Amino acid sequence: MSPTAVDVCVVGGGPAGLALGLELARQGVEVAVVEQSGHFNRSFRGESVSPDAVLVLDRLGVLDKIKAEGALTTTRMEITEDGRTVLDTAFADFEYEHRFPLELPQPTLLGVMDNVASGFDNFSMLRKSTVVGLLEADGAVTGVRIKDPGGERELAAKIVIGADGRYSKVLEMSGLAHERVPLDRDVVWLKLPLPPEWDTETYRVRIKGDRHGLFIPTYPDMVRVGFNIPKGGLRELRKQGIGALHEKIDELAPELSTLVREKVTGYSDTSMLDIFTSVVPRWSRDGLLVIGDAAHTLSPVLGQGVNHALIDAVTLAPMLTAALEEADHRTALAAAAVEFQRIREPEVKRSRGLQLRQERMFTFGSRAGVFLRSSLYRAMNRSAFLKQRVLADAYFRLQKREKAA
Ligand SMILES: Cc1cc2nc3c(=O)[nH]c(=O)nc-3n(C[C@H](O)[C@H](O)[C@H](O)COP(=O)(O)OP(=O)(O)OC[C@H]3O[C@@H](n4cnc5c(N)ncnc54)[C@H](O)[C@@H]3O)c2cc1C
Repeated sequence: MSPTAVDVCVVGGGPAGLALGLELARQGVEVAVVEQSGHFNRSFRGESVSPDAVLVLDRLGVLDKIKAEGALTTTRMEITEDGRTVLDTAFADFEYEHRFPLELPQPTLLGVMDNVASGFDNFSMLRKSTVVGLLEADGAVTGVRIKDPGGERELAAKIVIGADGRYSKVLEMSGLAHERVPLDRDVVWLKLPLPPEWDTETYRVRIKGDRHGLFIPTYPDMVRVGFNIPKGGLRELRKQGIGALHEKIDELAPELSTLVREKVTGYSDTSMLDIFTSVVPRWSRDGLLVIGDAAHTLSPVLGQGVNHALIDAVTLAPMLTAALEEADHRTALAAAAVEFQRIREPEVKRSRGLQLRQERMFTFGSRAGVFLRSSLYRAMNRSAFLKQRVLADAYFRLQKREKAA
């Protein structure tokens, strides 16, 4: 039986929503996760999980189960510019408890979290259920209206958490101000079998002038290619036919020339990611809070989206649990939501800043720009100190902070 009232209604069963649902369930809170999809199979989405996110998964008690279902460990990151290696990093050199990123399919990540959470009686997962409206009373959000195969119904909650991703309907319905800031590039994603000369443990970034591609080993034996094009450039590329994409891939990764022609015979074999970041000045109002991509969509550079979604969830869960124990839980929940944003926003902003600087460097096409970019990477490659400083900011912020505490 689906509940009609819960303490916390989480809209969206992605990494943020399910991690929050699991953690709240563990803390004894009555929680429902409302997910529009009937399955977790979202190809191309969030397969790179940073070392900090691996730590969070470990603390959530799901890491071993995820690894048992199948994941790849990344040990190196290699950046080449016009065929020459300018940065080569071994993750083993970073002395943290969890130092290696993982490549894991989102169905595994989400399926395992759902499975563990479903072991708690106080957790409900409502699938094929789309939130289509917010319930409101006295200026506060008091629940959601859900459309499912049985029709429409209401679910009351003390707080609604919008964890419904980059095109958040909850954010849109909440009346909270928000703005999408487009970045200079879009990304065309495709998947190919891993070529025999590549191992499964290395992230490859290949740059040539103002073009770059990400080549990420993907479980079990594939490579995920993220090929950058100018903003809105897909239509132009499509007009030139699929051969134009093949030739662009040839320039960056000749190892893939045969495979890309065999496996990508039309643009329907690719997937487009419109890259933008979102700016949401206030993440909450009375009875409602947005988290994960709904609050702070990031770019795909350095695999930060899942990381921040999971850290949001485990930061928020104990704050909500404590607020729900207060006699005046409405006031306590509102204060917890504001405090949550105060803690998390600077962290997200730092990642966004790092991503924007990196994105901007990728767009340098002039000789001077290319020289500057290569010199920066080479300087970092020579200096263990610089490598630790810059990459620790991207991959180990949580572990660095905890180590320093
Ligand atoms: C092509 C692509 C590649 C990416 N690659 C990476 C990567 O390698 N590493 C990385 O860290 N990040 C990556 N990201 C970003 C990453 O996927 C997101 O940052 C992360 O999934 C955010 O988690 P979330 O839970 O906030 O939102 P989402 O994962 O988007 O989950 C939102 C959920 O809400 C559900 N939903 C939406 N609306 C409703 C509604 N009205 N009612 C009910 N349910 C609803 C959706 O079905 C979805 O399940 C990628 C994103 C894309 C698009």
